[in-house]
Amino acid sequence: MDQTLADYQNRVDAVEARIAAACERAGRAREDVELVAVSKTFPPEAVRGASECGLAVFGENRVQEAAAKIPLCRGGVAWHLIGHLQRNKARMAAPLFSVFHGIDSERLVRQLDKCCAEVGNRPRILIQVNAVDEASKSGCEPDAAAELVQVAASCSSLDVVGLMTIPPFAADTEAARPHFVALRRLRDHIQDETGVALPELSMGMSADFEIAIEEGATWIRVGSALFGSRRGKTWRPSADELM
Ligand SMILES: *Cc1c(COP(=O)(O)O)cnc(C)c1O
Repeated sequence: MDQTLADYQNRVDAVEARIAAACERAGRAREDVELVAVSKTFPPEAVRGASECGLAVFGENRVQEAAAKIPLCRGGVAWHLIGHLQRNKARMAAPLFSVFHGIDSERLVRQLDKCCAEVGNRPRILIQVNAVDEASKSGCEPDAAAELVQVAASCSSLDVVGLMTIPPFAADTEAARPHFVALRRLRDHIQDETGVALPELSMGMSADFEIAIEEGATWIRVGSALFGSRRGKTWRPSADELM
C-alpha cells in the first residue's frame, strides 16, 4: 500500500518529538544529534517522501541495493553506509557514500582508502566496535579499536571521525544502555591515547535511540520508526527503472 506524504510527515514528527525530548532530558542541543533515515528495503519513493518532510541524510546497509537506488533518488541528500562493508564491495561503495559506519578491520580500511583515492571521494568513517563478547558477525574487538583508528587516521582518502556499535537485540531497550556507555568511554579513551579527534558516536535505532542520545550519540540510525515495518520487504529496481 502506498504511503502518503501525511504518513511520512506524521512519522517524522513523532521521531522528531522523541529526539527533542531525549535531548532535553540529556541537556543536549538538538543540533548535536543527526538523524540518519534508514531507507533499506524501501523504494526511492519513500526516500522522496521523507526528504519532502525535511530529512536529508539516508542510510543503507547493502551496497548493491544502494548502488541501484541512489541514482533513482533526487540529489541534495547525503548517503551513509550504516552496515558492515565487505572488502569485495569497497570499490562499488567508494563513490556512493559520504559516511561509512561499519569499518572494522585494517584490511578493509586500506582497501576502502585505495578505492576512495581512485574515485576521488574522501568519506568520513566510523570504526565499528563489537558490543558483545561472543564472536558476532561484524565489529572489531574493543581492544583493537585504537589501532584501527590510528591506521585510518594515516589514510589520505579517509577521515576517521568516531565509533559505531550495534548492541545485541534485547526485548528490554534499557539493556542497550551499558553498551552505549561502553562505546562512549572507549571513544574517550582512544582519543586520549591516540590524539585523534573522534567527535561522532553512531548508536541507537528505532527502539532505543532516546537512550543512545542520553549516552552521547551524535548519529542515530532510524529505520522502521520513519518508514514502517520491513517485515517481508525487499527492494529491487523494476525493469523500467533499469533502462
Ligand atoms: C536496519 C538498521 C538500522 C535501523 O533499524 P530500525 O530498528 O528499523 O530503526 C540501524 N542500524 C543498522 C546498522 C541497520 O542495519
